[in-house]
Amino acid sequence: MKNNGLADDAKPVRRALVKSFGCQMNVYDSQRMADVASQEGYEQATNIEDADLIVLNTCHIRERASEKIYSELGKIRQLKDDRAREGRETTLVVAGCVAQAEGAEILHRQPAVDIVVGPQNYHRLPQLLRGRRRGVGSVDTEFPLEDKFDQLPASANEAIRARGVSAFVTVQEGCDKFCSFCVVPYTRGGEVSRPLAKVLAEIERLARAGVAEITLLGQNVNAYHGRGEGERSAGLADLIAAAARIPGVLRLRYATSHPNDMSDDLIRAHRDVGALAPYLHLPIQSGSDRILAAMNRRHNVRDYLDLVARVRRARPDIALSSDFIVGFPGESDADFAATLALVREVEFASSYAFKYSARPGTPAAEIDRQIDEATKAERLAALFALLEEQRLAFNRRLVGRRVDVVFGKPGRRAGQIVGRSPYMQSVHVEGDLSLIGAMATVEIVGIGPNSLIGRLVARASREMSLIA
Ligand code: SAM
Ligand code: SF4
Repeated sequence: MKNNGLADDAKPVRRALVKSFGCQMNVYDSQRMADVASQEGYEQATNIEDADLIVLNTCHIRERASEKIYSELGKIRQLKDDRAREGRETTLVVAGCVAQAEGAEILHRQPAVDIVVGPQNYHRLPQLLRGRRRGVGSVDTEFPLEDKFDQLPASANEAIRARGVSAFVTVQEGCDKFCSFCVVPYTRGGEVSRPLAKVLAEIERLARAGVAEITLLGQNVNAYHGRGEGERSAGLADLIAAAARIPGVLRLRYATSHPNDMSDDLIRAHRDVGALAPYLHLPIQSGSDRILAAMNRRHNVRDYLDLVARVRRARPDIALSSDFIVGFPGESDADFAATLALVREVEFASSYAFKYSARPGTPAAEIDRQIDEATKAERLAALFALLEEQRLAFNRRLVGRRVDVVFGKPGRRAGQIVGRSPYMQSVHVEGDLSLIGAMATVEIVGIGPNSLIGRLVARASREMSLIA
């Protein structure tokens, strides 16, 4: 290809960029949208300046995430206008949860947008792109009858390899829980699980292309109930057991789980399935029963602690992480102190904490006793400090221990490679590039601010998960 944007046969090269905001499920959707763009003849752009088709895959979970999109759109409008003056066309698409929540309102706020498409509709991008008319924006946010996953093109081997040795696979979408603060049930719809056979076929394809580590995704992934063999319905534990038997799959993870959907089978899988990482992301949100009730979480602190104890009995070395919201309406100093007490009791390996953000249309946004920003900021800082202390303590306890690391990329220094421990930390070792895509045993010799430092002990074979 020549660098004037023309291919050798002088056909203009069109490039697409899908920019992902928010959660891991958006990362997966963005990859699938990139697959759609590739099928439509677009090459992958490396930055917005390079792209003829720009897709922003947006997040609506907190106000800041949502507002960020409009400032991004403002910049792209400028770029689009400049190019239009030079006779070059740019197509601007807003996808994801802001698209679903705000629909046509986006076209009013930012007329440079050509297409607004919801998270359940992006398989229709080819029709939307072909049907688009200059200056007339279109919106597709109806929940469709057809299954999006059946319509999407499979990822090409080349694209899979370019994305690395770890891959996400969405197995479940939507949520029926209606926590009072959360927009997900409105933006992603009700809980739907993909059939077992289709998920396994996708994992096989990824493994054949060299993916070694798979993270099964869902807004409530442990509520997974896919169509299994015959009339049987398969739970997440069945899916994990079947996926672990696929040659090349060295490690499995899943996220995000709701405490009420943690079945005995799934807990046992942590004991019995060697390829399942000893890591569980199990959000609790608050350590106060009063606040958990106001959040409509439908579990209390005792339920959570009992669950943690059961999981730890099944897999004593499991690393736990959680999500917390501080400053939920009506949260008192005593409620917040209860959150800190819960964190001290559980001892998390890592966690996420957020300031409560009132979201339009959710019940919590209507509660009078909203907490002021300064109090939220103060509580967030205190919680962060405690979680960070626990994260570093967890990492320090690994020094001197041996862990299996799946290597994903070269390190910044020559001769160094970087992988991931079973507990999700990055691990840097001196090692050969041929280890990328493989799992090896590493002795942890030190810790850095955000990663572990290790020494290679033994190389494991790619078939390791078969015998675990
Ligand atoms: N389904 C998961 C669960 O049950 O916890 C979480 C999904 S949500 C996309 C990820 C996290 O965002 C939540 O666990 C919560 O901590 C946070 N979150 C959701 N709504 C929020 C809000 N209105 N303000 C602040 N944080 C919020
Ligand atoms: Fe949101 Fe609650 Fe559903 Fe998680 S369980 S996605 S926090 S409504």
